[in-house]
Amino acid sequence: MRDTQLYRDLLGVSPPWRVVSVDMDTEAKTITVTVDLKSGALLSCPECGHQRCPVKDRRQRTWRHLDTCQYRTMVQGPVPRTECPDCGVKTVEPPWAVRYSRFTKGFEHRPSSAFSRCP
Ligand SMILES: [Zn+2]
Repeated sequence: MRDTQLYRDLLGVSPPWRVVSVDMDTEAKTITVTVDLKSGALLSCPECGHQRCPVKDRRQRTWRHLDTCQYRTMVQGPVPRTECPDCGVKTVEPPWAVRYSRFTKGFEHRPSSAFSRCP
């Protein structure tokens, strides 16, 4: 199993999201998992559920995840904002974290069905 596939499953990442790299820094004892969103992806509006909203923009963010053995593990990736025809611009929470949190759902011990959406 490849490292990107392992973290894809651990984080509950599925298309249009994807784990693009897993980097280990043995000196700093950190693992950085980089996740990205497929270019041109259409997402659901987090307010009304309207399907196929275009991504207006995205901001890079880093979340603290559970350690991988003795390595501090961080997840970095985009937080996209959709442009819904009914609701306007809304921030989408990525599959591994809730909105505004700097920790992954796994780190916060939130229940998951592969990190399904939480309130
Ligand atoms: Zn909407």
